[in-house]
Amino acid sequence: MAVTAAVSRRLPTTTRRVSRRRPSRTAGPTGLLWLQRTAGNAATSRLMTQRTIVDDLGRVLAGGAAALKKALSPPLKAGDTGPSVLSLQQSLNRVGAALIEDSIFGTRTKAAVAAFQRDHGVRPARGAGTVDEATWDALRLGGRATASAVPGQGSTESWAAMPAQRRADFRTLGYTAATWRSKTPPLAGLLPYALLSEKQRAAATRLGYTRESWRANRDTTAGTAAKGFAAEEAAAKRKAGARVLPAKYVGSLRAKAMIAAEFGADVDIQLAKVHLLTEAEMKKAYEGYYGAGSYTPINGFTVKPDIYLNNSSIWAGTTVHESLHVQEHGTWDAFAYQPTSAFGEGATTILTELVMTRHEQPVTHHPYAAEVALVRKMNTHAGLDKMRAAYFQGATGDYRTGVTGGLKPGTTWAQFRALVDAGALAAAQARLK
Ligand SMILES: [Zn+2]
Repeated sequence: MAVTAAVSRRLPTTTRRVSRRRPSRTAGPTGLLWLQRTAGNAATSRLMTQRTIVDDLGRVLAGGAAALKKALSPPLKAGDTGPSVLSLQQSLNRVGAALIEDSIFGTRTKAAVAAFQRDHGVRPARGAGTVDEATWDALRLGGRATASAVPGQGSTESWAAMPAQRRADFRTLGYTAATWRSKTPPLAGLLPYALLSEKQRAAATRLGYTRESWRANRDTTAGTAAKGFAAEEAAAKRKAGARVLPAKYVGSLRAKAMIAAEFGADVDIQLAKVHLLTEAEMKKAYEGYYGAGSYTPINGFTVKPDIYLNNSSIWAGTTVHESLHVQEHGTWDAFAYQPTSAFGEGATTILTELVMTRHEQPVTHHPYAAEVALVRKMNTHAGLDKMRAAYFQGATGDYRTGVTGGLKPGTTWAQFRALVDAGALAAAQARLK
């Protein structure tokens, strides 16, 4: 479908530096030989991405640790195949890529490696997209949070055979017999510890979680949820011909998991197709009116749920922001966007910041300040819950009634709306008591 009716929604640029530390380098080949003799080559390969085990072995093996780590970080390039490539693909998926784990270093794997290197300032001697020891180091640091083994999601335990109390505790956390083996975890499994209820925390504690291991497991479950969407995204990417998202950013899968955790009760979250464009491509597609990301509403309604990200200026919240736009109900869309985008951008930004904050992701900047101020003021009358209902379910009547109740006497909705449409946001805000 043509994008002639496309409206660009802009987000400003930011950059965030990722600090890295390099491992110490000591000599000694004994570690790897000992490990290969003891555990075999296959097990040695499997250890490649398991940083904690490598580090533990490193402490034990002292002088052999650096050699071991080096041996577990083989140089790789496009065309290579085998268990090392599988480890690489697993590592990349752990930090946000959505590769098919087929042990083949193809063009998609190369694109994911290059994106990861660009994001982490790794410059291999043999060129971007080839894997060197520094790339392995950066991948291991990036994947650290997901390396813990904890109960729950992904368990091979039988639901029916587990002790009654244990099953009751998992049920408190949202699991059922039907969903126990599901790829998509229950919403509670994606929530930060701080947002669990007393009852959920008690259940989590009995199951052996600490605050820290819950946090680690949440990353794992979010990753598992992402895997559940991987086939869906892979199909979308094949069809759209889109590139792999940079690993540093919250990818569409993770964004979907985060949005589902927060708003899954309001709406069945749909995955957007993600097109990753260069600055030049964004300019061409949007004729100079472009920013970090945009999406494609047709005639005011989002009928083509694609999002477009500017590779050079997206921040972690861009995917969440644009993915949220895709969830907007048609009625809200008409309410919010014809002919202005003030309400829609204000609400989308408020919801984006809510998701990012709840999931302990930094809000590195605050776009649409005037629109956000207006919608926050409206929400003091109508309430965030009503805004959510309007946004996700199209219940704009209740929301508008709430706002109208807050207007100064003599100001009608039409008058208020006329100010908003004219871009006189401060004046519109002043009409709200
Ligand atoms: Zn927007």
